[in-house]
Amino acid sequence: MSDLLILSGKDVSSSVYKGLSERIHALREKGITPGLAVVLVGEDPASQVYVRSKTRTFKKLDLFTQTYTLPKDTRQDELLGLIKELNNDNSYHGILVQLPLPKHIESDKVINAIDPKKDVDGFHPENAGLLAIGRPRFIPCTPKGIMRILEQYKIDLNGKHVVVVGRSNIVGRPISILTSMKMDGANATTTICHSGTPNIQYHTKTADVIIVALGVPSFLDQEMIKKDAVVIDVGINRIDADNQKGYKLVGDADWQSIEKKASAATPVPGGVGPMTIAMLVENTVEAAENFY
Ligand code: NDP
Repeated sequence: MSDLLILSGKDVSSSVYKGLSERIHALREKGITPGLAVVLVGEDPASQVYVRSKTRTFKKLDLFTQTYTLPKDTRQDELLGLIKELNNDNSYHGILVQLPLPKHIESDKVINAIDPKKDVDGFHPENAGLLAIGRPRFIPCTPKGIMRILEQYKIDLNGKHVVVVGRSNIVGRPISILTSMKMDGANATTTICHSGTPNIQYHTKTADVIIVALGVPSFLDQEMIKKDAVVIDVGINRIDADNQKGYKLVGDADWQSIEKKASAATPVPGGVGPMTIAMLVENTVEAAENFY
């Protein structure tokens, strides 16, 4: 039998919500309810699912949230107009634009239009820059959630070799910055791999901790890791399945394979996903606290 430690983001997220309840209560005492505006353009089914689960959590916690669903042919200037309105609306402390946006809209321009103090996703260049220089304001939710899982399970990265596969602005790039930062729980030597890396296995085989965030189902297997490595699986991939939905969700790691060799791993689902939502709530509460 495998003695793999399952790093449950579901459990860690529950303790995050418990910890936040006091802060939410303190805000309520002052008549403030943390509020999040969510903007969804088009009908991408995965985006719809993500938005629903985010807003469901906000409602469950009795926080304020409103989703602005716009048709897929919405013009960029219309979307920018809405962002401007939301920036000026004091009932929203956070604004989230669900990505990806339709191709005719420049995501950069839209992200740049969000008030950096309401940018609870942490994607605005001002917030990305603050993170890069080690003075973070809003840390993107998925990387922040990964660090919290590692902290909760006392996996100290100090002096360790971390390999990140993927370099997106949402996950790979910020987690490579966080893991290598000079701070408690981090201070790792981080290698970042991507589609231009010739022999990814060469790097992953020497890693103490591997963070896979590429969006390729079952990419990482036991041949690519060393014994007792820790695997953080960020991937959420839909693959065909013989069930009612017609699909199931799998990660970027082949669980059946890596569980024979890794010492600890995050499952999909129930690993990084729930933490992304918990950190969105945390960032929104923080935005509300800083607003007044
Ligand atoms: P992107 O598509 O934006 O980035 C993927 C990255 O992986 C790119 O840097 C790309 O390289 C690299 N890559 C792709 N294929 C390969 C390959 N075969 N070998 C090496 N590198 C490769 O994806 P995201 O970062 O947004 O998301 C990654 C995964 O994480 C997806 O499955 C997504 O659904 C999931 N996700 C999960 C979240 C959660 O809460 N659990 C939150 C966000 C994302 P290059 O830069 O060269 O193109």
